[in-house]
Amino acid sequence: MVSTFPLPNSVNLSQIRPDIRNLQSELVNWRRQLHQHPELGFQEHHTAEFIARKLQAWGIEHQTGIAKTGIVATIDGKGSGPVLAIRADMDALPIQEENEVSYRSRRDGIMHACGHDGHTAIALGTACYLSQHRQDFQGTVKIIFQPAEEGPGGAKPMIEAGVLKNPDVEAIIGLHLWNTLPLGTLGVRSGALMAAVECFRCQIIGRGGHGAMPHQTIDSVLVSSQIVNALQAIVARNINPLDSAVVTVGELHAGTALNVIADTARMSGTVRYFNPELENAIGQRVEQIIAGVCQSYGATYDLEYWQLYPATVNDVAMAELVRSVASTVVETPLGIVPECQTMGGEDMSFFLQEVPGCYFFVGSANAEKGLDYPHHHPRFDFDETALGMGVEMFIRCVEKFCQR
Ligand SMILES: [Zn+2]
Ligand SMILES: [Zn+2]
Repeated sequence: MVSTFPLPNSVNLSQIRPDIRNLQSELVNWRRQLHQHPELGFQEHHTAEFIARKLQAWGIEHQTGIAKTGIVATIDGKGSGPVLAIRADMDALPIQEENEVSYRSRRDGIMHACGHDGHTAIALGTACYLSQHRQDFQGTVKIIFQPAEEGPGGAKPMIEAGVLKNPDVEAIIGLHLWNTLPLGTLGVRSGALMAAVECFRCQIIGRGGHGAMPHQTIDSVLVSSQIVNALQAIVARNINPLDSAVVTVGELHAGTALNVIADTARMSGTVRYFNPELENAIGQRVEQIIAGVCQSYGATYDLEYWQLYPATVNDVAMAELVRSVASTVVETPLGIVPECQTMGGEDMSFFLQEVPGCYFFVGSANAEKGLDYPHHHPRFDFDETALGMGVEMFIRCVEKFCQR
């Protein structure tokens, strides 16, 4: 898919204003410092300190320790006006980095493999620029630095801690650096951008025994195999083919020896969909199938099923605002990619349930430089040119939204 778009060497950066181009080396520097000190969800202490120090130095009012490690910076423009929030996530992943770069992770087993180090740098650059150009917008911009996007989720506790209140946020925007898109492209879409995420864990309880005497047993391996097969019928036969959904069993564990029928089997998986009407519906079918198959074999089960994040759904008007801004930042007609939906999940979704907003993708892959590994890969890295593009996008969105 990437190869059908223009190559990154043709990226036109003429729309990045000089003040932001001048910030580029700082953006790279911040991102690399953060990259060397990755932290897992709700443990972003070093990251939060790094952010707070900068905000302090720039004279930006901010509050720390929200939902453990979250930060909210508040930047007032010239006089009263709308309140726009910008959200950035700042956590890393439990992955051992395999990149051999000068700025590689210095923490064993932890890596910024999703680009949240870049999101934090972009949000800092945005804060820095806005604090120096308060005359260029009216109202208030709140910049939300959120912990634990990769799980268990920092957006919800930050909302519960009141980050969208006082002053009340009218709309919210956010971005993800996106290696599925090449540098120089922006993915903007109204409606569902990312999927709802549900998870399940199930134990199948049979009766173990001798591998040569199956009639004395209830074979948990056979039962769980039938369940894995049958679960695939949910998407094939219960979901409207015009809707998208995924049921994945990612883990299946059973047995100890080739001649022993396993007493129990354990499986876990994830469910994804866009249409909010499918909330509860797929989970119900998962349980019906597990219960029905177990009953037919005389097995029992223990099922845990939970919703992690709802679908990330963009507001039509806010997506239009971001799209119109995007078309001024990237000029090529291929630059704005509406077909950028993904079954990946995001807890930006909780913010978008509270206030209208738009989450969008900033293409960051550069195949010529080998910077096109997928997110969550031990060799993930992105073209840092995208950092300045991200700041330019945020600033233009602020200037457009905060002029009423
Ligand atoms: Zn991620
Ligand atoms: Zn991410």
